[in-house]
Amino acid sequence: MTTALVWFRRDLRLHDNEALSTAAAADRLLPVSVVDPREYGERPYGGEESFRFEKTGAHRARFRCESLSDLRASLRERDSDLVVRDGRPEEVLPALARMVDADLVSLHTWPTPEESAVESAVKTRLREAGVEVRRKWGHTLYHINDLPTPYTDVSDTYTSFRKSVERDANVRAQVETPSLPPLPESFADVETGTVPTPADLIGERAPDPDERGVLPFEGGESAALDRVESYIWEADRLREYKETRNGMLGEGYSSKFSPWLNEGCLSPRYVHDEVRRYEDLRVANDSTYWLLFELVWRDFFQFQAAKHGGTMFSRPGIRERHDIEWREDDAAFERWAAGETGIPFVDANVRELNTTGFVSNRGRQNVASFLANNLRLDWRRGAAYFETQLVDYDPCSNYGNWAYIAGVGNDSRDRYFNVVKQARKYDPEAAYVTHWLPELDPLPPEYAHEPWTLSREEQVEYGVELGVDYPEPMVDLERSYEKLR
Ligand code: FAD
Repeated sequence: MTTALVWFRRDLRLHDNEALSTAAAADRLLPVSVVDPREYGERPYGGEESFRFEKTGAHRARFRCESLSDLRASLRERDSDLVVRDGRPEEVLPALARMVDADLVSLHTWPTPEESAVESAVKTRLREAGVEVRRKWGHTLYHINDLPTPYTDVSDTYTSFRKSVERDANVRAQVETPSLPPLPESFADVETGTVPTPADLIGERAPDPDERGVLPFEGGESAALDRVESYIWEADRLREYKETRNGMLGEGYSSKFSPWLNEGCLSPRYVHDEVRRYEDLRVANDSTYWLLFELVWRDFFQFQAAKHGGTMFSRPGIRERHDIEWREDDAAFERWAAGETGIPFVDANVRELNTTGFVSNRGRQNVASFLANNLRLDWRRGAAYFETQLVDYDPCSNYGNWAYIAGVGNDSRDRYFNVVKQARKYDPEAAYVTHWLPELDPLPPEYAHEPWTLSREEQVEYGVELGVDYPEPMVDLERSYEKLR
């Protein structure tokens, strides 16, 4: 008679879950989730005191609680359950293993320093207790063992990486959802524990989803599979994804799969198989290819983290850029984080982020570039702010994209975005900017993007007074670009 524990981490799903299927081969199965206090509250960045930030904000806390509730409901439907415990996994898991006399604990592994450190501590303690530990890789499209080269040798350039996997690697078949063995008898009288609320995790209630947001983003595998169904099949959006993906308003311009992918409610291989099925049944075109192309970007940053470790999160980054002089200016940072810079395209995107936890890729690129390039503030403060706020935060995608834009990551060019040009191109009618900054609604689009060009008389005419209704710009944009050229 064998007994196994499966430790659910950011893999809150039953489909395509190898950690679950491995443990489910035992005679008795105990599914466990551990609420680790180190993931919540204020923390010093990277363990140093260079600055402090909140690890998890309200949007992701809500999403995670909903995901746990959904997972528990699915397990209960299958006559199993989800045991929820507060504490450090390296203490909680050995104690539970002892209580049910477990032979095995299975779990998914992640390549990032904080996740790996917890995992090593868990592994050491369990092995000391004579419990076998099986670790599985399960959050990328391509499996780490199927890469054309060892992960330590993956290319630092996206295009070479993509071409190599497209040519020489295959996406594995999904792991079948197993039937679940019963809970261990010795556990019958023990409390399963309650799924936390956002208030339990972060000490405050999460706001209800704001109706101006692109989607309410309900956590959980059920909502994830519904979103795939509605985006790909019902609304039939996939056929035009490449043309619409740079949009900023509404639920349909891109897939919005990221929160579910990152909390593990959705497997990228499931998305891949749905795209292939769509290509067979409806249409195969540049758009269907492009969704997979973007999932390869996601993989790219995961394998970059596996290769470079903590360097990816350091200020000089993987390019060891010690030549950039980063400024320290708390007041400037606070204005950026409040969406009060006086540059509408930046402010609208930051306010969307603060209100909903989500912002388009176009918006992320522009607010990141403004902080790192125009203001020259330490890019990691911006990235850490995203870590707090994003509902779809992932360490590799977030810090990888930020470093890229700040000129310290995976691109040899210095990449900066001209935010006004971007605003005119991607928001020509200023519909996005006025959606989030209604105070600029009376202005014609060209002024809504550059209100500082309004004369005194025009401010009176439109009823938008700079410095009263909307801030004066905090920098002279043109001069800040000259310094970068
Ligand atoms: P779609 O356009 O529908 O793309 C499908 C999927 O491809 C996404 O869900 C995502 O998993 C992946 N993807 C797309 N673009 C990227 C990219 N540039 N890098 C990595 N994966 C990508 N994405 C995150 O998932 N988590 C983050 O913490 C995160 N932080 C970012 C920070 C900055 C500064 C920037 C510029 C980008 C960041 N991204 C992050 C990438 C991207 O903006 C989001 O993945 C995307 O906007 C999510 O929306 P979607 O699911 O509709 O994407």
